[in-house]
Amino acid sequence: MKAVDLPLANGENSPWDSGTAELGHILHPGELDLSHKVILYLEDISVSFDGFRALNRLSLTIDSGELRCIIGPNGAGKTTMMDVITGKTRPDEGRAFFGQTIDLTRLSEAEIASSGIGRKFQKPTIFENHSVFENLELAMKTDKRVRRSLFSVLDSAAADRIAETLELIRLAGAADRQAGLLSHGQKQWLEIGMLLMQEPRLLLLDEPVAGMTDEETERTGELFLSLAGLHSLVVVEHDMAFVRQLGGRVTVLHEGSVLAEGSLEEVQGDPRVIEVYLGR
Ligand code: ADP
Ligand code: MG
Repeated sequence: MKAVDLPLANGENSPWDSGTAELGHILHPGELDLSHKVILYLEDISVSFDGFRALNRLSLTIDSGELRCIIGPNGAGKTTMMDVITGKTRPDEGRAFFGQTIDLTRLSEAEIASSGIGRKFQKPTIFENHSVFENLELAMKTDKRVRRSLFSVLDSAAADRIAETLELIRLAGAADRQAGLLSHGQKQWLEIGMLLMQEPRLLLLDEPVAGMTDEETERTGELFLSLAGLHSLVVVEHDMAFVRQLGGRVTVLHEGSVLAEGSLEEVQGDPRVIEVYLGR
């Protein structure tokens, strides 16, 4: 909708004009509303598989720009939680909101992805026979906003974005390399880069450093720290050195609910956490 289509009172700018300083940024329908600084809100989410409660009244709030780690024993429901957020699994009960207004329980997986939630699975899904650069280019072309463009040639803004992303994921020197020839860690970074090309606001990363060397793990930590703020990240990980490096709040999941939440030091000192997870 163009601003000139709206009746304007007293010469004021249209409320649809996002540049209006006094009114602040006015949201369009379906746009992410971060006015309360919360990007993800889960309330009393329950999921059962054949009578088994994988999630049991799970409630969780992630702030905008936050870097949150989720830990907990195998079977605690960590991956199922990500399945609910991304629309792969529908909750039996509970509420799930992206920002203030986007009800995730009413959207398809594709709608959730295009609303700004990116998910990285454990196994990289890169195009092994294409170069690193081409992988990032292909990831961008699946972006609806780009596909709508009349031009299929890569414009300079797009080329700049690819170059920036290559720097961020530390693959600038390997842009022309065939992706299949990258190390395990580099493939993981490339997939994160492909996610970033879609400009997600919230990134979900399930055991991102599994199988990485110590050096790759530390570099991944640096990458995540550089993404936090502009993006919000929810990271499921068992590697406590990595969780310590990330330094944010930690949520401990157990039997489908939140058992504890706080700094890593706080949850590590919690006797219930030690009993079910850390003390094994
Ligand atoms: P985590 O990622 O914390 O290890 P999951 O979320 O993968 O845990 O699994 C939680 C529980 O739910 C496990 O007991 C698992 O076997 C069960 N589960 C997960 N997905 C399914 C499914 N699609 N069908 C049946 N059971 C499932
Ligand atoms: Mg899992």
